[in-house]
Amino acid sequence: MSTVCQSCGMPMKKDPENGGTNGDGSRSTDYCSYCYQDGAFTSPDIKTAADMQEFCIGKLKEMGTPGFMAWLFTRNIPRLKRWRNV
Ligand SMILES: [Zn+2]
Repeated sequence: MSTVCQSCGMPMKKDPENGGTNGDGSRSTDYCSYCYQDGAFTSPDIKTAADMQEFCIGKLKEMGTPGFMAWLFTRNIPRLKRWRNV
């Protein structure tokens, strides 16, 4: 069980659904429900860690997070499991 989503870096306990869903309907312990549904990643446009960082920074800013904090929250994204072999 990961403590943060291995795609976007969001703490798993902040996920209202407690994780995404695998192809067989079971709960994913690595990815949150925003990133991963029915065994597939939800945003086909997000292909690299840099894409994901940009997306998350945009979302955080939308929620009123200052740019510096948004950068801080997303700077570990390239180290997450989904991006390690990309
Ligand atoms: Zn996620």
